[in-house]
Order: sequence, then structure tokens, then C-alpha cells
Amino acid sequence: MDSLVREDLEYIWHPCMQMHDFEKNVPLVPIKSASGVYLYGYNGEKYIDCISSWWVNIFGHCNPYINQKLKEQVDKLEHVIFATFTHEPIITLSKRLIKLTNYSFDKCFYADNGSSVIEVALKMAFAAKRFEDKNVNSFISLQNAYHGETIGALSIGDIGIYNESYKPLLCKSIKIKAPRGDFYLESLEELENTLKENKDKIAAFVLEPLIQCAGGMNMYNAEFVKEATNLCRKYGIYVIFDEIAVGFGRTGSMFAFEQCGVTPDFLCLSKGISGGYLPLSVVLLKNEVYNIFYAPFYENKAFLHSHSYTGNALACACANATLDIFEKDNVIVANKILSDFIWEKAQELLEFNFIQNLRRCGMVLAFDIVGFVNERKGLEVFNKGLKKGLLLRPLGNTIYFMPPYVITKDEVLFVFDNLKCIFETFQ
Ligand SMILES: *Cc1c(COP(=O)(O)O)cnc(C)c1O
Repeated sequence: MDSLVREDLEYIWHPCMQMHDFEKNVPLVPIKSASGVYLYGYNGEKYIDCISSWWVNIFGHCNPYINQKLKEQVDKLEHVIFATFTHEPIITLSKRLIKLTNYSFDKCFYADNGSSVIEVALKMAFAAKRFEDKNVNSFISLQNAYHGETIGALSIGDIGIYNESYKPLLCKSIKIKAPRGDFYLESLEELENTLKENKDKIAAFVLEPLIQCAGGMNMYNAEFVKEATNLCRKYGIYVIFDEIAVGFGRTGSMFAFEQCGVTPDFLCLSKGISGGYLPLSVVLLKNEVYNIFYAPFYENKAFLHSHSYTGNALACACANATLDIFEKDNVIVANKILSDFIWEKAQELLEFNFIQNLRRCGMVLAFDIVGFVNERKGLEVFNKGLKKGLLLRPLGNTIYFMPPYVITKDEVLFVFDNLKCIFETFQ
């Protein structure tokens, strides 16, 4: 195992890491295998994946059913160019996704990761406005937003550590105050003022409905999503919902927009879509947008955006298997019970007065560690968590629990009992 760590650090630059931290602040953890909520190391260690491996894994690692469906697909068709060609898994998946949204959308456009599908939605919204002779040049998004790390996605994001170095490169996006909990009236007012002043310049308003996840698990009132969407409609601006993190059951409904009483023009999905197996993303949209691009060849209105792995058949097979599990295990209903159980157990953490803002939305639970100035308490939770058999990855001093939906009650108890042990060392 030591040689794996040595060789990894010799040849690999890890994402979202200051590599210098590996010198003494954090360990690099080689994983040999995984099953259900457990990740297994090389010396008998095991960790409960409390964060669904960056929010992607929803039905456990090496899920026997998804494994089986993936194996069946790999012997039939692994991948085929997706311009001009097509395949059964992606047609099945597209029909199912549209049906799952209760036919709120008409078309699926695929990409292979979250950031890319955000780029797709931004470009589509922008081009659609241009084709309608609107001289648009910018977007509106929320402060504290995260939409991915490609240049377009960074432009509408607002998390300093990701954006800072690239400011001169970014596209125009007006950031309005983010809602927080039940406080959203100021945000709405700012949105309306911005729309009034700039409506001819704005292509779309982009937001993460219900939870700004990377932005410290900021959960906010569904009413904001509804009223903001209606305002954008009033001013003729497209609305893009980034449900990359919150889609597929995370917030308690299949999609977050179901709780908001509105549908966006573009719905971006990724992460949980393939059960955490393979990269896949999709934007769902309506025919009103599709038809703006639908024209004879020489009008040059085709949407020329593609990725080599767009519509990968193996990823689609995993996505279909994932949707099968949602259906056969009645997951959304079961998660309500599980989420209540987690919430009840989490109350015990309130005995520590440095734990504040305990909050939840569906299968996301979060709280903040406050009162320690200039201390990387989140990092300490990460390191102590590993020693206790927990994979946690705090966002600064915000700790969140976002497990695969197959976690059992006993495993939940294990997680919170060990969290309590960790917090006892803080006193
Ligand atoms: C993860 C995430 C993205 C980016 O997806 P990647 O696949 O990591 O590029 C975009 N938006 C939200 C809300 C996310 O959580």
C-alpha cells in the first residue's frame, strides 16, 4: 500500500486538492474494492461513504443489479458515435426521463459530465435568443453558486476559490443575492430589478433549486424558485435549473423542481443519473426551444456541440438500471422514512454548542462548526473520520451527510455515534 501511495504521488495530480497537503495534512487513501456503502482499503480498513463519492453514488458501490446490467450491455455494444447513430439504451433512457418529469419536457440532449451539460444549456439558451434577434450578452446567476469548473460554468459560479484566478477570462454573469433558508425576498427584489434593467441583454437565469450544494449546503425555500422562475417568464428570460447534484431523489422528490410548482426551460442532470458508475449528463428541454434550432441546413442553426463520449451506451445501461431500482424499490417513499430517521439521530449532535444550523432537505443533512477562528475544523473532521471508518468531506467548516440511499439504520447509528466521538475531542 505504501508503494501505491508513493507511485500515485509521483505520477498523478489529484482534482480539487492542494497537493502540498499530502505532505502532512491529509493521507492519500488507496481503495481496493467497494460494496454497498463501504469502501475497503488494503489492510482491512473500511470506510462508510457518507458523501456518496462526491454525490454520485445512490444505490451503493458495486450494486449487484447495476453490475449485472452493465455486464449484459458490455457484450452487446460499448459505444458508438452518437451523431447519425443511435442505440436502444439511450432511447429507452430518454423516454423514461421525459415520462419521469411528467412530460414537462420534450427532448433530451446528452453530454458526459455536469460542467459540460451546463455549457450546453448556456449555449442553447444564448443561441436561441440570438436566433430570435435578441442581442443578449450575459446571464443571471446566484451568489454562492456552483455550476462546474469549465470556463462557462465558472462564469455563472460564484465560489471564490474556484473563480479567482480566471476572472479576466469569464463570460458576463450578473450575480444576485442568494436566498438563505426562508430569507428570499431581497433576492427576488434584486432579481426583478436586474431583469427590468437588463432584460434585453440576459439570455437566462441559472440556479440550483432548493440547495446550493458546493456553496456550503445552503438550503432555501422552494417559494424562491417558484417566484424567481415566474419573474423570468414575465421578462422573457430562459430559466435553467442545475439539478446535477439535487436530481434523482436527493431532495426528497425525484427532481427538486417538483417541490417548487414550476418547470424550468432547461433541466440539467448528471451525478446520480448513472448510479455513480459512469460519466453521463443530460439537459431536458421543450420543443419551443428545439424548434428555434430546427431549420433547413443552410440557415446554419444546427446546435453544433458534441463530446466524443456523448451518449455512451454503457453509461446509459447503468442509468436505466438505476431507474429500474427507483421503480422496483419505491425509493422515494423509502427515503422519506430513512431521512426522518437520520434527522432524529442527528439531533443528538446539538449537545455540542459549536454545532449550529443543523438542517436537512431530503437525503441531505448538514450543519456548521462555529466558533473556532482560523482552524481547519473541517479538515480535522475529515482526518478523524477516516480513523473512525467514515468518509466525510466537509466544505470548509460545514459538515454534511449525503449517503447512498441503501445505507441501513445500523450504519446511520454507527456514523452519528462516531461523529459524536469526534466532536468530544473538540471540547
Ligand atoms: C458537480 C456539479 C456540477 C459539475 O458537474 P461535474 O460532473 O463535476 O462537471 C455542476 N453543478 C452542480 C450543482 C454540481 O453539484
